[in-house]
Amino acid sequence: METSLPGRGLKKIDAHAHVGYFGSWCNVGLTAQDMLQAMRLHEIEKTLISYPDNAVTREAAAICPDRFAALAWINPHLGRAALDELACLVEKHHFAGLKLHPLFNAYTADDAVVFPLVEYAQSKDLPVFIHSGHAPFSLPWSIGQLAAAYPATRFVMIHMGHGHGVYIQAALDVAARHDNIWLENSGMPMHTKIFEAYKRVGAERLFWGSDAPFHHYAVEILRTQVSGLAPQELEDVFYNNIKKFMRW
Ligand SMILES: [Zn+2]
Repeated sequence: METSLPGRGLKKIDAHAHVGYFGSWCNVGLTAQDMLQAMRLHEIEKTLISYPDNAVTREAAAICPDRFAALAWINPHLGRAALDELACLVEKHHFAGLKLHPLFNAYTADDAVVFPLVEYAQSKDLPVFIHSGHAPFSLPWSIGQLAAAYPATRFVMIHMGHGHGVYIQAALDVAARHDNIWLENSGMPMHTKIFEAYKRVGAERLFWGSDAPFHHYAVEILRTQVSGLAPQELEDVFYNNIKKFMRW
């Protein structure tokens, strides 16, 4: 069974996944232990994790700090409390970046409510990861506007447009226009766009991610593996690029 899994022998770092349970329509979840087991099975050295309740992320990262890096999922509508929470997670608990989910928390990425959080991230030279792919809040163009307003901040467009062809194309176009945007490919169905992003946006600007537990590791690994990229290029997407980006 294990020998038939895709991506055997490829080093991997997972640039986007979640510990914890997501209820409502989602009904998916992974404990930290489940994820560690899956990481061993799929040869994933390290995972960037986030969850709406940052205490869950913090607990998981504390279990295995070598294998998990934590991103602070912050709701910018909380104003001063949002900024305080981000500062606490970064300065006391060593969180490695800011995660914004405009769809979950109902704002566009270029809304002024986001600016103080981005300015804090920039002051600490931390990356900002932003969910993309759903109207009206999580569209690539809004992320482009934010990246244009903060050219010294490093942004990751999670899902690079996700499941919608028009948004996927926009993700590539927007990232090609702004060299402070990197793309993460979890949940994005078109293997062809993985190849295209690597060639057009840039060899260093694409990361592989699973978005576990929303998607199965094997499916996400296989899609990138069959994208048409050469073995050395696959190593960039699966491993080298995120490692360099996170300065690990
Ligand atoms: Zn996700």
